[in-house]
Amino acid sequence: MKLKSVNNQMQLINLIDALLPQTQCTKCGYQGCKPYAEAIANGDAINKCPPGGEETINALAALLDRPVIALAEEHSPAQLAYIREAECIGCTKCIQACPVDAIVGAAKLMHTVIAAECTGCELCVAPCPVDCIDIISLPTKLVALTGDSAIAEGQRVTRQLRRDHARNRFEFRSTRLEREEKRRQQERQARLQQAAVTPTIQTFDPKQSVIDKVKSQQPTATALTAEQKKLKIEVAMVQVALNKAEKQLKQYNTPELQQQVANLKVKLAEAQQAFTSALTE
Ligand code: SF4
Ligand code: SF4
Ligand code: SF4
Repeated sequence: MKLKSVNNQMQLINLIDALLPQTQCTKCGYQGCKPYAEAIANGDAINKCPPGGEETINALAALLDRPVIALAEEHSPAQLAYIREAECIGCTKCIQACPVDAIVGAAKLMHTVIAAECTGCELCVAPCPVDCIDIISLPTKLVALTGDSAIAEGQRVTRQLRRDHARNRFEFRSTRLEREEKRRQQERQARLQQAAVTPTIQTFDPKQSVIDKVKSQQPTATALTAEQKKLKIEVAMVQVALNKAEKQLKQYNTPELQQQVANLKVKLAEAQQAFTSALTE
């Protein structure tokens, strides 16, 4: 198709994307082939795709009526990831990095690359903490996604099917990640809202409650007036006298001591009353 017959930007982006290898390797500087296609449609250079090579540059130049230019970086050949399973510790970091979900395995179990799904993007290599992923040449039984590959004319249809398949897997994964991120954000938001409407539950500590009550009732020493201080001392003195009399009563239990204790209790109550009244005046 020629540029002048393209109706809109979306159609142009799709036509450009169809010429890209779909390894989703990000070597062009974008987060996949489609984002690079969008950038090219907006005027970016056509020579930034190492897996595409000269073949892709030529195809893009023809589509866009632009001059053919040299590849900006070294061409990336057709390749495949291979996990040395005996060394794999099952950390799942490679799964998280793979743009087309081409790795299977569970946490703490060995992982394996599905050769037919692997685009050879190399994105799983760097995150592997034990360096047990090798990048090997693509076996001849698989048709390469990359440009500049020595494929027979009859294999071009197969390559296009493989590219379409890789694109679908990439888009499926991107949609899934977006959905999961959205769900995480909604859950976070719900937790924040819940925290905002739920009053803080405080456990009742009777001891602390008494301390707080006394504190709230008793002004600090510096706040007491001279009269209040005098009454406070009176309360303390009567309390000491009462404690002493009660001790003696316990030991001797005479009628005089019984009367003395009773009198002191009344006196203490009066002193406390006088002190409390002075505080509230
Ligand atoms: S194959 Fe890699 S470098 Fe080429 S467009 Fe796709 S993501 Fe970019
Ligand atoms: S297995 Fe590795 S090299 Fe293959 S597509 Fe996934 S991330 Fe890329
Ligand atoms: S990143 Fe390496 S160690 Fe971790 S699961 Fe993948 S292959 Fe195994």
